[in-house]
Amino acid sequence: MRVDLHMHTEYSVDAAQAQTPLQKAQACLDAGLEIIGITDHLDYYHRRGPSENRDVEACLRDIRAAKQAFAGRLEVLVGIEIGQIHADPSADAFLRSHALDMVIGSLHVMPNDLDIYFHDFARLDCDAFLKDYFSELLRVSEHGGFDVLAHIDYPLRVMRHGEYIPSFDQYMDRVEDVLRSCIAHGYAFELNAAGLGSWQKKVGPPQNILYEYRRLGGERISIGSDSHTLDTVGRGVADCVRNARDAGFTSVTVFRERRPEQVQL
Ligand SMILES: [Zn+2]
Ligand SMILES: [Zn+2]
Repeated sequence: MRVDLHMHTEYSVDAAQAQTPLQKAQACLDAGLEIIGITDHLDYYHRRGPSENRDVEACLRDIRAAKQAFAGRLEVLVGIEIGQIHADPSADAFLRSHALDMVIGSLHVMPNDLDIYFHDFARLDCDAFLKDYFSELLRVSEHGGFDVLAHIDYPLRVMRHGEYIPSFDQYMDRVEDVLRSCIAHGYAFELNAAGLGSWQKKVGPPQNILYEYRRLGGERISIGSDSHTLDTVGRGVADCVRNARDAGFTSVTVFRERRPEQVQL
């Protein structure tokens, strides 16, 4: 099955305009995909409301319409990418009151409410930052309430500056804490292709982390392009599948009405 379980439409503030859920689904069908999750952003913050997101109710309505319109040709899962689920109790309330197929749990923003992307790493203690990052990621994971643990390698994509090349290799004990929490909560651990568009030019997470997840007993994985434009749906999915197979995975976990089902890769 060709799957892409993480993508954005014009309802995400960081995505290109003029890509409705219907248009996105059509692009996915044209790209030969069979199961997709449309997962626009809903980010929560520690000290302010979820104000940076476009109309989430209209977004979910349009995804449901796309699901119906493409039934029998392309399976569209109604999803959302929740940032910082632990930062604001209204995230839990939102999920209790909305029927969804899948929920991605992400960490984009540190406790200072600043996106990791916008930190000035040339002026920061990157070692201390990464320790804070893993503590915060563990808080997200331990909070619970979602299905897919997204892109744990996000800092690797954006921290490079000057001679500094970020790596998690010195933090594997902290990575393992997150992986154990992921397994204990039953999340699908995400292989995310966004790194293809960064300096790394490859999908994440680093392969040694995927091996470690497997070694610790991890069985559920998710795969997503994290596409923010119409022409990037499915991008990197084949690389993710190759990495997954290399680490011993033969299936991907798809969530339908929040229930996990294994689908052969
Ligand atoms: Zn994300
Ligand atoms: Zn995303």
